[in-house]
Amino acid sequence: MKKIELIDLAAQYRAYKDEFDAAIGTVCERAAFIMGSEVSELEQALAAHCGAPHCVSCANGTDALVLALRALDIGPGDEVITSTFSFIATAEAIATVGATPVFVDIEADTYLIDAAQIEKKITKKSRAIIPVSLYGQCPDIDAVNALAAKHNLTVIEDAAQSFGALYHGRKSCGLTRVATTSFFPAKPLGCYGDGGAVFTDDAAIAQKLASLRLHGQSKRYYHRLVGMNSRLDTVQAAVLLVKLAHFDDEIRQRQAVARRYDELLAKLPLVRPTVREGRLSVWAQYAIRVKDRDTVAQKLKDAGIATAVHYPLPLHLQEVFAPLGYREGSLPLAEEAARTVLSLPMSAFVTAEEQEQVADTLATAL
Ligand SMILES: *Cc1c(COP(=O)(O)O)cnc(C)c1O
Repeated sequence: MKKIELIDLAAQYRAYKDEFDAAIGTVCERAAFIMGSEVSELEQALAAHCGAPHCVSCANGTDALVLALRALDIGPGDEVITSTFSFIATAEAIATVGATPVFVDIEADTYLIDAAQIEKKITKKSRAIIPVSLYGQCPDIDAVNALAAKHNLTVIEDAAQSFGALYHGRKSCGLTRVATTSFFPAKPLGCYGDGGAVFTDDAAIAQKLASLRLHGQSKRYYHRLVGMNSRLDTVQAAVLLVKLAHFDDEIRQRQAVARRYDELLAKLPLVRPTVREGRLSVWAQYAIRVKDRDTVAQKLKDAGIATAVHYPLPLHLQEVFAPLGYREGSLPLAEEAARTVLSLPMSAFVTAEEQEQVADTLATAL
């Protein structure tokens, strides 16, 4: 029995192997491992791809969020509103700069922040809103931007899972004052280690970000700010340049994979993902909802099919945030999602045959 992986990164490597090997070889030959020319080349290409005027790369998606918050001078005493249904990094970054995360529940069908519930969480201490483009789909960014404008807040899109996604004809990472993404290998656009980037339409913020990621330097060995060491490795930039050239094709392939799942799973007793009108998901995850989720996941595992749960515990119930005083039942839709979601194998390289095997196994399991 052939195993089906959640994300077949080796298949992608084999598909463009010669390009990867040449690109990595070039970096090694030149030995410009830190801030080599590929880094700025990539930043320009990423900015052009998403339509953001400025891109500053960094070491990972978590640092991207920390850098964004620090560039906006958000810290102790400030509150930042975000979705409770996300990877820990979103809230961790807020806490890292000393600010307080304020959690909002999700829409039941998209798993994205419920924009209608944001306004009641805004206080005098609020500084920013971080909508998370979970599973590859942007939330209602127009509504979030409008609220932010009304209350003088900054919007930072956490686009770690959505680089390449479309929102009413515009691209994720180019929709808000600031946006962050991650190039963790499993993300839709991933490198061969850790990587991340921050996007902004504001030249002053971009300049501050570029300094903060390089020890707060104004020029070499002269430091104006307390910064970080958070650079993207040249090798990772070279890998990303190769993948970026194939990315639009991969996004199309991901649409085809998602449509095929939609067809294969249409008659099964499960909830398929919803993508709202006017949006294109890059399908970081194809997450279904099932009763007895853990039993179903085990049956798929027994059949050699990898799945994952993104995420089993919402952020407001994480032990680390216990001092904030949220209780079970505070944000019920996210809690229900955490009990029932299951991510199926998804990448541009999943074959129709593999998807049929997933569907058949699910049919038996249910
Ligand atoms: C992956 C992820 C991050 C963090 O990215 P890293 O590169 O792993 O630090 C942040 N937010 C979300 C929503 C993510 O999925």
